[in-house]
Amino acid sequence: MDISIETSLEKARKLNRLRSAPSDYELDGVKKELLALMRKKNAQLVCHYYVDAVIQDFAISSGGIVADSLEMARYGKESKAEVLIVAGVRFMGETAKILSPEKRVIMPNLAATCSLDLGCEIESFKRFCSNYPERTVVVYANTSAEVKAFSDWVVTSSCAIPIINHLKENQQKIIFAPDMHLGDYLKKTTGADILNWDGHCVVHDEFKAFELKELKKRMPDAEVVIHPESPSSVIELADFVGSTSQMINFVVSSNKKKFIIGTDNGLIHMMKKKAPDKQFHEAPTAGNGATCKSCAHCPWMEMNDLRDILGSLLNGKNEILVPEGISNSARESIEKMLGFNKLKDVPKNRKTL
Ligand code: SF4
Repeated sequence: MDISIETSLEKARKLNRLRSAPSDYELDGVKKELLALMRKKNAQLVCHYYVDAVIQDFAISSGGIVADSLEMARYGKESKAEVLIVAGVRFMGETAKILSPEKRVIMPNLAATCSLDLGCEIESFKRFCSNYPERTVVVYANTSAEVKAFSDWVVTSSCAIPIINHLKENQQKIIFAPDMHLGDYLKKTTGADILNWDGHCVVHDEFKAFELKELKKRMPDAEVVIHPESPSSVIELADFVGSTSQMINFVVSSNKKKFIIGTDNGLIHMMKKKAPDKQFHEAPTAGNGATCKSCAHCPWMEMNDLRDILGSLLNGKNEILVPEGISNSARESIEKMLGFNKLKDVPKNRKTL
């Protein structure tokens, strides 16, 4: 594993280990103070499905949102709030700032990042792309502002298939980064000519096909619902493959009662809320005899804490800033994604090299 990913992961795990859980009394106090401060500062909480259930519930009760990264981006842009508090990981805060440069964007902890973002450093990525100048550069939302600024398209797992199909219909060859499993899945699903960068998500990469087969045998009536950042051997066992929002919609609309869920287990909180009569089981993350490394929960997402959200808003800490030139260029690619259905022509040229 890349040394920067290993170091950042270790720090996240250490912080999560050392932090004590708040008592109900403390939590009540934090919620009251935070709500009053959010009203005073006209702030809204924009939260990802993978963060702690307490933060998800608070986001909804305070008039904010819990969503996937595509909806978080849209919501933040359209929000009338002056301050956006992003509970998730750093690239989500950067995307919010890029789309709403006039708003203040703060996060509970700026060290909360993502192995995909860390594993796609801008200078190495530029060097890689320079070997294939004929290819259109499509990057996943889980990348730095610099990588987005350099790229022709940004996609999330909700909209990647239609965008890649559209590029294929326009005879474009593609470089896809950073998630190699998602890139493989897009290649197989669309038949597009895709060259993958070799990044992976430390959570989804841990799902194991052999153990999943065993679990399926023990639960033959369960449907297997998998996120496409998982290895292809796991995806092959799925009844449904989709983004976090699509996974929620699938379990809500399915007539089955039992599901095996292959993504960060933070998503199960929202599934239980939307389908309280159904049962959800985590897909296995570790092979026989192995020590669980991730337990299907992202250590960087786990760094989000309601007390730190209050601290950031109270003290004006942990603000996301993106240099103007990078922000303007990244905004072009992100807005192209958000307006994708309205696009008639697909630009054929690489934006920058
Ligand atoms: S779950 Fe994976 S893709 Fe999502 S933030 Fe964590 S490391 Fe990144």
